[in-house]
Amino acid sequence: MTPEPEQSSNPPLDRPCVGKVFLVGAGPGDPGLLTLRGHDCLRRADVVIYDYLVNPRFLEFAAAKAERYCVGQHGRSRHWTQTEINSRMVEFAQAGKTVVRLKGGDTAVFARSAEESAELARQGIPFEVVPGITAALAVGSYAGISLTHRESASAVAFVTGQEDADKSDSSLDFAALASFPGTLVFYMGVTTARHWSDELLRAGKPADTPVAIVRRCSLPDQRVLSCTLGTLADTLSGPPRIRPPAICVVGVVAQEATCGSWFSRRPLFGQRILVTRPDEQVDGLRRPLEELGAEVLVQPAIEIGPPRDWGPLDDALRRIADFQWLVFSSVNGVRSFCDRLLSLDMDTRALGHARLAVIGPGTADELRRYSLRPDLMPDEYRAEALAAELAAKAGGQSLLLIRASRGREVLAETLRAAGSRVEQVVAYESRDVAQAAPEVAQALADGLIHWTTVTSSAIARSLVNLFGEALRNTQLASISPITSATLRELGYAPAVEASTYTMAGVVDAINLA
Ligand code: SAH
Repeated sequence: MTPEPEQSSNPPLDRPCVGKVFLVGAGPGDPGLLTLRGHDCLRRADVVIYDYLVNPRFLEFAAAKAERYCVGQHGRSRHWTQTEINSRMVEFAQAGKTVVRLKGGDTAVFARSAEESAELARQGIPFEVVPGITAALAVGSYAGISLTHRESASAVAFVTGQEDADKSDSSLDFAALASFPGTLVFYMGVTTARHWSDELLRAGKPADTPVAIVRRCSLPDQRVLSCTLGTLADTLSGPPRIRPPAICVVGVVAQEATCGSWFSRRPLFGQRILVTRPDEQVDGLRRPLEELGAEVLVQPAIEIGPPRDWGPLDDALRRIADFQWLVFSSVNGVRSFCDRLLSLDMDTRALGHARLAVIGPGTADELRRYSLRPDLMPDEYRAEALAAELAAKAGGQSLLLIRASRGREVLAETLRAAGSRVEQVVAYESRDVAQAAPEVAQALADGLIHWTTVTSSAIARSLVNLFGEALRNTQLASISPITSATLRELGYAPAVEASTYTMAGVVDAINLA
């Protein structure tokens, strides 16, 4: 009996180690509407090939080292042709990479997925398809339009408006569409609206049929316009002219759009807000503002980096047993201090003897992330209040202040005056950003930014350097009286000031204005 050939776990040498392609629907725009599966695929991707309609925020879900390629604009000149997209996907996968082909909306609606998956199958590339929320369905939730209705719409049709007006052999049967017993949703129909609305009218669809135009659905600048089939083309051509991406819902149900939706009724809807915190801390402010409906732009005014010299912090960490109190006046200080501790092969047991003081709840939360609990936090989240409470509790004791490369001296001065032994150590460098993004500077100059958050004196100074007079075109939201005083000294009075000196306080101040 001949023995069975031994199975090798390695692939044969003549077959390359093939990666995998995921065709992923990103949904209409809000990053929160991506599926968990889609998120998982993005996290694992080596390469992301995305449509121009995809919100750039989705790319943040991919690893920093992932390659990113935009395939260009829909309907206009594309950077990549469909053939190029297909062949690049195949090439990347053949090189063993995990590829995410990210598309707006759903993969199965006007998305050319069939062509892409056919090519992948032909080339023997493993692939999966992950659905997304298509624009028509998003309009249901975000513009308050029920696409079907028990009395007036028993069916829904998704129709492409991107038909060449000169094309004689139209693939659309307008007579059938005009008598369709339900709602018509036109994709890609903005520039061709005159053609398809005329055809529907000619085929007998009444001119007073309600139409809702929803532009940039689910995004913070979503717009909903109501008109009729007869006035649609003029409404789109403006003024103001409506630009893609927009979707047109044609039918009785479109009337409901005039009632507005939960989305546009959120308190900060329509407000454009510039957040100026350092990159790593943007989310703590961006998230709650977006939750209230604001459109958030980001332009860090300062950047945080490692200290020029780790020596003093390392030295303090080696002598950590000498300090009875560790005092943290910022989230960055906690992060840098604790990360350094861990990187020196120590752990938080080294801090067991010390008491921990923080300036406010953000700093306290950061300590908790390292499983440390603060012993002292002042009622008012400012250096003066922290100094007063510490002076009362830690007089005569030995304190280590963990601080930035720049900042106020009030804490050290007050504590020394109270008889404490104070040592200060720079745990991180805070620098001004040298130049603002041109689009942000332009928006500010054009008066398109309703609010700018100013969450420290250092940020106030840097903002004045970055934008100067243009700052008069926006309302400044200050985090505290100290920051407000700095702004006033610089000649820019804040429009509002937080009553609690936290990010939540800034959000409240804007929301109540
Ligand atoms: N696969 C996508 C459709 C791509 S075709 C999907 O399932 O949604 C591009 C068209 O989709 C646009 O011209 C527009 O009509 C529509 N669209 C996509 N995103 C949109 C959005 N956020 N708001 C309104 N329309 C959108």
